[in-house]
Amino acid sequence: MTSVSDIRSSFVEYFAREGHEVVASGPLVPRNDPTLMFTNSGMVPFKNVFTGLEKRPYSTATSAQKCVRAGGKHNDLDNVGFTARHHTFFEMLGNFSFGDYFKERAIELAWGLITRDFGLPRDRLMVTVYEDDDEAHALWKKIAGFSDDRIVRLGAKSNFWQMADTGPCGPNSEIFYDHGESVPGGPPGSPDEDGDRFVEIWNLVFMQFEQLADGSRTRLPRPSIDTGMGLERVATVLQGVHSNYDIDLFKALIASAAQVTGTEPGGSGVTSRQVMADHLRAMSFLIAEGVLPSNEGRGYVLRRIMRRAMRHATLLGANEPVIHKMVPVLVREMGQAYPELSRGEAMITETVRLEEQRFLKTLGRGLQILAEESEGLNEGATLSGETAFKLYDTYGFPLDLTQDALRTRGIGVDQAGFDAAMARQKAEARKNWAGSGEARTDEVWFAVADQEGPTEFLGYETETAEGEV
Ligand code: ATP
Ligand code: MG
Ligand code: MG
Ligand code: MG
Repeated sequence: MTSVSDIRSSFVEYFAREGHEVVASGPLVPRNDPTLMFTNSGMVPFKNVFTGLEKRPYSTATSAQKCVRAGGKHNDLDNVGFTARHHTFFEMLGNFSFGDYFKERAIELAWGLITRDFGLPRDRLMVTVYEDDDEAHALWKKIAGFSDDRIVRLGAKSNFWQMADTGPCGPNSEIFYDHGESVPGGPPGSPDEDGDRFVEIWNLVFMQFEQLADGSRTRLPRPSIDTGMGLERVATVLQGVHSNYDIDLFKALIASAAQVTGTEPGGSGVTSRQVMADHLRAMSFLIAEGVLPSNEGRGYVLRRIMRRAMRHATLLGANEPVIHKMVPVLVREMGQAYPELSRGEAMITETVRLEEQRFLKTLGRGLQILAEESEGLNEGATLSGETAFKLYDTYGFPLDLTQDALRTRGIGVDQAGFDAAMARQKAEARKNWAGSGEARTDEVWFAVADQEGPTEFLGYETETAEGEV
């Protein structure tokens, strides 16, 4: 069997042989990029090279990049546990051309790798192109020998890429693998495309235009290439399984989730073990970069991921901290490729353990309240915003945790009501603020309070103060 590690190196080595510079993964927390919460694709560390702001001593590159899609524009948090192909943390393999080769060479290279080196049969593959991109259509015909029905033309929503409102942009072409009739789902562009049968494994972006502020587009003098292939998805294909969670790496993490909860890997609670395995990676990689759970910004995204995982551990019967016990397994599986995990093992373990300890104090009682308040609700109903806010404010339940908990029963949450309750509480706090009489102090205080959000719990901070990190 080809392991995830083997596939990662085969990809990078293939492009190295084809003259690409091998570049190590950049960080998850992008440097000097306030527009982005987390690195969400392989091109992020090369942004300034594409726009020409930064020069590098090479014109083509390849990398395996750490990515997180759990907030902001690309948010796959809600997909985890519900599809076989989305993670919060995943690795994106890519090759890049900075004004060097373009469309034809990019398609040739991609086709060569997946059919020759990876040995994928043509009749399991199909592609999409942007509806106006006749060039890409003709190239796929020529290079792959696809018949017209294997090249689907789609609109801008899925097949036109833009770096931002202005700047480099262009059509893209996505390569799909057909997992076969036993898996539900239809081909791209069909009404049931959202299943796991036809899975997008690789996206080739043809950066050929520049979007200007006045709405017009000009041709880039030296067009560029940016591609992204999901490592876990291609491993699923190469290992002959149909779910990312059945690849070697995830099998080990799921076995660990089973072990720490005293459940069986194949027994009931499959989704919860998958969520634990997925979220363990995201939390560990973020903590390894120094992100800590908190009530705002990146830290709050991390906290949401951690608490979601904890609720799922509780569903499997855990009533004490268990997720931190999975960290060594992750380090064993991925520490060689990502030494920051090995270096950070003790800090990651301790941070996870403390957050577990903290949240377990209120999680059980919160779940009880949630059960009581949602008892009479049927499918299609919504939980009141007041209740969701009480769970948030007093029991530390991020809104999406409450939503996740009710989703399998088809119950929603009144988000407008939740927002209103939050606004009311802030206004109330302002009104009750006696203040020192010095306007400046008040202003500073409320600026901080707005940013940090309400204090989450009543009382635990003092209890665990000595253990705070
Ligand atoms: P999808 O349509 O399946 O959500 P995408 O079009 O959003 O994928 P891209 O932005 O094109 O994905 O990213 C490039 C590649 O990265 C995809 O072709 C896929 O293989 C992989 N990928 C994207 N999102 C995820 C994810 N959440 N988990 C695992 N792999 C992913
Ligand atoms: Mg997506
Ligand atoms: Mg897509
Ligand atoms: Mg895509």
